[in-house]
Amino acid sequence: MHLTHLECPRCGREHPADVLQNLCGCGSPLLARYDLAAVAATVAPEQFGLRPADLWRYRELLPVADPRFVTTLGEGWTPMWRAPAYGHEISIADLIVKDEGLTPTGSFKARGASVGVSRARELGVKRIAMPTNGNAGAAWATYAARAGMGATIAMPLAAPSICREECLAAGAELRLIDGLINDAGRDIAELIAGSGGGIFDAGTLREPYRLEGKKTMGYEIVEQLGWQVPDVIVYPTGGGVGLIGIHKALHELRELGWVEDRLPRLVAVQSTGCAPIVRAFAAGEERVTPWEDARTVAFGITVPAPLGDELILSALRDSAGTAIAVDDTEILTDLRDFAAREGLLLCPEGAACLTAARHLRAGGWIRPGERVVVLNTGAGVKYPGLVHSGAPV
Ligand SMILES: *Cc1c(COP(=O)(O)O)cnc(C)c1O
Ligand SMILES: [Zn+2]
Repeated sequence: MHLTHLECPRCGREHPADVLQNLCGCGSPLLARYDLAAVAATVAPEQFGLRPADLWRYRELLPVADPRFVTTLGEGWTPMWRAPAYGHEISIADLIVKDEGLTPTGSFKARGASVGVSRARELGVKRIAMPTNGNAGAAWATYAARAGMGATIAMPLAAPSICREECLAAGAELRLIDGLINDAGRDIAELIAGSGGGIFDAGTLREPYRLEGKKTMGYEIVEQLGWQVPDVIVYPTGGGVGLIGIHKALHELRELGWVEDRLPRLVAVQSTGCAPIVRAFAAGEERVTPWEDARTVAFGITVPAPLGDELILSALRDSAGTAIAVDDTEILTDLRDFAAREGLLLCPEGAACLTAARHLRAGGWIRPGERVVVLNTGAGVKYPGLVHSGAPV
């Protein structure tokens, strides 16, 4: 393993990586750092192609030392589909959808759960707890069960009911909250404070290794394009872990010398019903102000005050990217339109990225001929009722 330490991106302080860590003393999430020179001396990019088709193919760049702790259900190495018919309609000829809907538990949250649970297990955790909008709780409950670990999950009542069922089926303790994810967060904070250290806080960005699982989307996009970077990557942003992770992965690949010296422009997509990142980006701020009365069909991105706001905003600026809010009605129209033309039922968060790409192309921000990768972060079949079914004949 080439993990060397954890680094605070806000105050620069270094923390040891061989003991459990949550936030830095200054309140910022921590980032895992590796000896990349040693990685480059150990493995060449061509070798990854000979390895199993899951995210553990990047093991030199992941934080688990002993393979016995790897907790896997086959996550990662999801397909990248060209979407010529829909792409033609929105004038993006080179449109590619990376379909995370095929991941275990039906969303890309399984990537973060697999790596996060594996590392927690290696460091001796017996029970994790977290607030969730649904998919993260389902994934962490599932991987915790596989690792023989306990899980307490707090979830808004309005979250997709399948996510509740996944938690219960995996034997997790489920706490239903009449509120949003930040209310669930308060509940979990109280629980952990009263637990005397017996429960590990695995909330979004509160431990450093979920991010390491999600960054593998960045490695895969580049490897699947033949070690080339696309021009634009469009990402539905809630807590922002995937966006921060892809940005981190791209920088690591550049430092390894495995890709050219050019970053794709990263786009954070939110709903007009909850767009704290879009508002802060437009105003040139470094932190968000919490969004009031958050509400959207794209439940996975209903995060009124993401903890990783500074990291999201700096990734957007560093990559000359942007942030855009899209309307729920248009999200559902694009979801149906895409399914009819390409045959894949996206999750609403993924469909939001198409709406965003369509608007950014129409406004000229995406230029003719550019290669655009859109993340479909979950399986459309997890969200019944978004497409009206016809009357019986
Ligand atoms: C959690 C989630 C998101 C947002 O992910 P972040 O990395 O936290 O921004 C997007 N789509 C789906 C389906 C999700 O479950
Ligand atoms: Zn710090």
